[in-house]
This record gives sequence, structure tokens and C-alpha cells, in this order.
Amino acid sequence: MKTSLFILLLSVFSWGFAQADVDTRPQVVIDPGHGGSDTGSKEGSEVEKTWNLKIAEALSKAFEANGYQVLMTRTSDDDLDSEKRINTINTSNAKVVLSIHADREWTGTQTGPFFVVEPPNQSATADVDSIQPLGAITALQYHASLKLARNIGQKLGANISMSDLSDSRGLAGEVVSPNGKVACLPHQSLRYISKPAVVITPLFITSASDLKKFGESTAIDDFALKVVVGVSDNLGIVLKLPTPTAGVAK
Ligand SMILES: [Zn+2]
Repeated sequence: MKTSLFILLLSVFSWGFAQADVDTRPQVVIDPGHGGSDTGSKEGSEVEKTWNLKIAEALSKAFEANGYQVLMTRTSDDDLDSEKRINTINTSNAKVVLSIHADREWTGTQTGPFFVVEPPNQSATADVDSIQPLGAITALQYHASLKLARNIGQKLGANISMSDLSDSRGLAGEVVSPNGKVACLPHQSLRYISKPAVVITPLFITSASDLKKFGESTAIDDFALKVVVGVSDNLGIVLKLPTPTAGVAK
């Protein structure tokens, strides 16, 4: 009975899809930071923009394989005008925005994943229905972004408590920890985004262990799939995942 219900739902869905000819897949924006002459961080031979694109491509593949529609802000090593980037994101139908920044950190001890969400700012009003001026981050949007970061972080096995690097503006009711991997901090890639958005630092290019880990393509694919699962949790979307092979004893 369950199977026939599924087939019925499936055919209704297919019919609706064909009739309306509209892409009903949930949309995700993936924003690989920097590009072209803007290299982002550098450490020895490691260049941030290259890592960002590589990981964004894996994410794009993983999201598409799981029924999402993906909008990438850049798909090659192009210079990306920040106004154009912001516009692309804010005029999209995306439910969530993931901005990828493989960061550097001076002590070399910080490891990924790490998450940044833009703090709420005072120019934002509490009124949910009013149209916010560009750059106004409401408390509502802040909490949606924070929840998104935590849903993803949880799937990646990260400590999702608030980092003590955080800005005080978003910390009401939060416990900060030096080991926390979620920071509430102003970020150039989030400042003007009007949707739930998070900067994800999959790895730090200053961390030998991160570089070793992400040197394997299976690690990138595994990371990407977990991000998809975290976003799906956040959006209440039930995934039909392929049988996992990673970690199974041979
Ligand atoms: Zn960056």
C-alpha cells in the first residue's frame, strides 16, 4: 500500500512538473569566495579561491544529485564584481546561501569546518513584513542563518557552540567557547545578503591536518554530502540517499 501511494504521488508530481514546466526543485545558492585577480588567502602554494571553487563544485554536484537546483555565483576562475554577486543572490529564489571561504589562521591550529553568520544590526527593524533596506540583518534572519550553520555543523560532527571570536551582538542566551565552530561576525560575503546565509570554511589552508584530509577527493565528496544532509534537515526535506559506502569495512 505504501508503494502504491508512493507511485501515485510520484506520478502526480511528474504530471505537475510536466504541466507547469516549472522547476520546482528547492534552490540553493553556492558562492565560491573570491576569484580571478582576487585570490583570497594564500599560504605557500595554497590559494583560497581555488579551494573555494573546488569545494563549491563538489557541493553543486551533491545538491543536484539530491534533487536541488543550484545557482553558483561563479563557475570558473573569474573576477566577481561584488555588486553583481549580491544581486544574483538576492534576486534568486534560493532558500539558503552557502558562501565558501577556505580561510587562513595565523596560529595554524584552527581547523575546519568553521561557520560564520552575520550579526543582527541595529538598523534592522523587528517588523517581519516590512521590506528591509539592503544590509539590514534582522534578528529573524540572523537566527535562521545561525540555525542553518548549526544544522550543517551537526552533520559534519563539528562543535556547534558559539566561538569566543564572536561579535557580542548575536550572543544573547549563547554560551561561548574557544572550541566553538560557529562565529557571529561581520563578513563581506554576508553583509548585504537578504536570505539565510552562512560562510562555510571547510578547511583552513594554514592547517596541515586539514590540507592532508582534503587532499583526498573522497573527503571533499563526503563533506559535500553531509552539507546537503544538513541543509535538508534545515529545510525539512527528506532525502532519498544512495546506500553509503564510506566507512564500510572491506
Ligand atoms: Zn575568503
